[in-house]
Amino acid sequence: MRENMVEIIREKALAHGFEMCRIARAGVSEEHRSALSDWVQNGMHGDMAWMAEKERLARRKSPESMLGGVKSVISLGMRYSPPPYALSEANAARSRGVISAYAHGDDYHELMKKRLKALARDLDELLGQHNQRVYVDTAPVLEHAFAETSGLGWQGKHSLTLNRQFGSWFLLGEIFTTADLTPDAAAGFHCGSCTACMDVCPTKAIVAPFTVDARLCISYLTIEFKGFIPRHLRPLMGNRIYGCDDCQLVCPWNNDTETPDDDILKPRGENILPQLAMLLRLDDAGFRQRFRKSPVKRTGRAAFLRNVCIAMGNSGDAGFVPQLLQTLNDEAALVRGHAAWALSRLASGSESVAAALQQAHARENDADALADMHITIEEKEEKS
Ligand code: SF4
Ligand code: SF4
Repeated sequence: MRENMVEIIREKALAHGFEMCRIARAGVSEEHRSALSDWVQNGMHGDMAWMAEKERLARRKSPESMLGGVKSVISLGMRYSPPPYALSEANAARSRGVISAYAHGDDYHELMKKRLKALARDLDELLGQHNQRVYVDTAPVLEHAFAETSGLGWQGKHSLTLNRQFGSWFLLGEIFTTADLTPDAAAGFHCGSCTACMDVCPTKAIVAPFTVDARLCISYLTIEFKGFIPRHLRPLMGNRIYGCDDCQLVCPWNNDTETPDDDILKPRGENILPQLAMLLRLDDAGFRQRFRKSPVKRTGRAAFLRNVCIAMGNSGDAGFVPQLLQTLNDEAALVRGHAAWALSRLASGSESVAAALQQAHARENDADALADMHITIEEKEEKS
């Protein structure tokens, strides 16, 4: 193998749109393995049952189970545009929703996989007999562990990977290879005594440095979780309707992050702080059209409009009341239940809203929505 092989691979990676490319040995440290086991044992994966599946857990811990004879992992970072607003601006835009920056444009999974596959084809030629396999974040791969041991970055206290030059606005991908490449040195830990991400987290989901309890995390709640959001967390979610970037927005390592020249995800203006009222008008076909090729589409209309209702309930804007009253008739029980909650927040003293909630409760035929509305009405009566 050529002496400067790693440098050649880095140049190829850059040509395929990966500004970060580092090499790790294909092993998972005891520290990373036990951190994963503890996280799952404590139930912090929430409803993401696949994370706790025995076989999948074992595969995460063993790169060999993903590619026989694997020797090296090429850890790759692909940047995307940071949000074009500060956290204070996003919080102040109360009649608008906040969508996570990585989801402002096209879904990254297929786009990134295409780039990884193109790079892997180059490696097939470069490395001769060796086998390569590519992974994006849906595969059982401990991507943050490889990013850390390869020196691509370090794990921040918010559990995401940070890079000294690019902050944290990037996505990780990996290429496993049977080639024995010279590993890079780890990057070291550069959070120091900072706790900005832990302090700002609205739901206190970062329960300890490097440990995020998904059950409390707004990213999980708005994207992965499909049920009725725990009532005590709803007021804390503010206007975040798809994901949450708060812990990244306050991180000092993101202070001067520039927008990449060729952001393949192509952020769409319509997804930057969109008007809540427009989003709540979307029917199923409208939702699919509005979020075509966007990661938001995978969440589904019901869960997304649930999030929109919560944001309206947190807006303090009684102008949403007429639209929310109509939404009590929505086709999705999940949306009806959260619309009732939002109404009780925005019009706590209104007798006509109280009557509308009673009627909605009387005609409700979904058990979960019924139970949620029941509590909403009881709480409203206690307040008035
Ligand atoms: S994404 Fe939001 S809710 Fe989750 S840990 Fe970060 S700040 Fe907290
Ligand atoms: S906000 Fe501070 S503690 Fe959190 S990841 Fe950034 S540097 Fe580390």
